[in-house]
Amino acid sequence: MSERPRLTVLSGPSGVGKSTVVSFLRAQHPEVWLSVSATTRRPRPGEKDGVHYYFVDEDRFAKMVANGDLLEWAVFAGNHYGTPRQAVLDRLASGAPVLLEIDLQGARQVRESMPEAQLVFLAPPSWEELVRRLTGRGTEPQEVVDERLRAARVELAAESEFDTTLVNTSVEGVAAELLALLNVV
Ligand code: ADP
Ligand code: 5GP
Repeated sequence: MSERPRLTVLSGPSGVGKSTVVSFLRAQHPEVWLSVSATTRRPRPGEKDGVHYYFVDEDRFAKMVANGDLLEWAVFAGNHYGTPRQAVLDRLASGAPVLLEIDLQGARQVRESMPEAQLVFLAPPSWEELVRRLTGRGTEPQEVVDERLRAARVELAAESEFDTTLVNTSVEGVAAELLALLNVV
């Protein structure tokens, strides 16, 4: 039996289904701890501060960066996103697994600073299906969808940098595979 990976990063193009898979998994396994990121993006309908993200302004985000409060951070489609460092370190110190749902730039930073981390790539069944999902979610105007699809091409080309690829054909199936990788059960 291999040692339990302590930190798992889930990445993949916008619209592939990362949030859907993670919330399905956590509904069944609330013990899986997910880091709450800080972002300068505005909340989508239904998103709650402190639950889905810490919604902060540019000044606050810049201070977090300057203070070294972020484990990693990136600019994605015009907004800043970052992982609060202390909560992750506290959780790891308690011996519990930690899950980060972050973009490719963030995954690369984690790879550098924590080489023991497990990097998991969530891939779409096809490009057409990714476009369908991102457009069908209906949460962004067309120009933001286009920007996210441009970023998606870059993210898809980086799949080989990850330890494992999961294809999001079925939410239940991928959640079960991710759970196994987290080594929680
Ligand atoms: P991400 O967090 O990667 O940006 P979301 O979780 O918001 O993506 O999912 C984008 C859209 O795709 C949502 O409308 C979601 O309901 C849908 N979706 C997610 N997983 C699947 C799947 N396996 N099959 C079909 N639709 C899916
Ligand atoms: P969204 O705006 O759709 O919630 O997220 C856009 C992208 O930012 C997604 O790829 C998501 O994984 C990523 N993201 C969310 N939080 C963080 C973070 O803390 N750091 C980094 N690097 N990316 C993040």
